Amino acid sequence: MAGYLDLLPKPKANTVNAGLASPKLSTLRSIFGEPRENYTGDCQPITGPLKNRVITKSVGPFKCTGVDVAVDALRDILATVKAEVPDLYEILGSAGMACARKVKLRQPDGTIKLGTNPSNHSWGLAVDIKLAGTLDLHGDDKCYRGLLILSRYFNAAGWYWGVSFPTEDAMHFEVAETTLRRWKKEGLL
Ligand SMILES: [Zn+2]
Repeated sequence: MAGYLDLLPKPKANTVNAGLASPKLSTLRSIFGEPRENYTGDCQPITGPLKNRVITKSVGPFKCTGVDVAVDALRDILATVKAEVPDLYEILGSAGMACARKVKLRQPDGTIKLGTNPSNHSWGLAVDIKLAGTLDLHGDDKCYRGLLILSRYFNAAGWYWGVSFPTEDAMHFEVAETTLRRWKKEGLL
């Protein structure tokens, strides 16, 4: 394997996610409504009107549950990865996409604090990626080399990489604000 699990310092914020931003809660709520009435720290089903757009299907290396357009976009991204970096594609896995819960923030002492807002996973528009069955450690300001390579493909398709969140989250990729607005304009949402 080509060092995909090597740990690198997280890249400078201005070298990734060019022109992309994490979607605002207000945008998510205006396009999709609220995924459910209440949230805890655990994954719960999407029960709001959005549930009619949630599908489960294979995106190539694994199955995903999420908003139909996002699941199809993810499948296209991973097909490009398969064509160009097949040995990276071989080790891709997922820790999930749709999951209605509060944001989880890993603290410097390793404990998890629940945020006040729902995670973007609640809308089924974000995916957590595993490499060779392993999750990149949340909040350590480092990332796997393989995720850095993968981020180029996600960024090119208009997905935001969580490495630049205030609490580093390199396993996390989500449909960016501008991409959501474009899909809405194109009538896909
Ligand atoms: Zn995530």
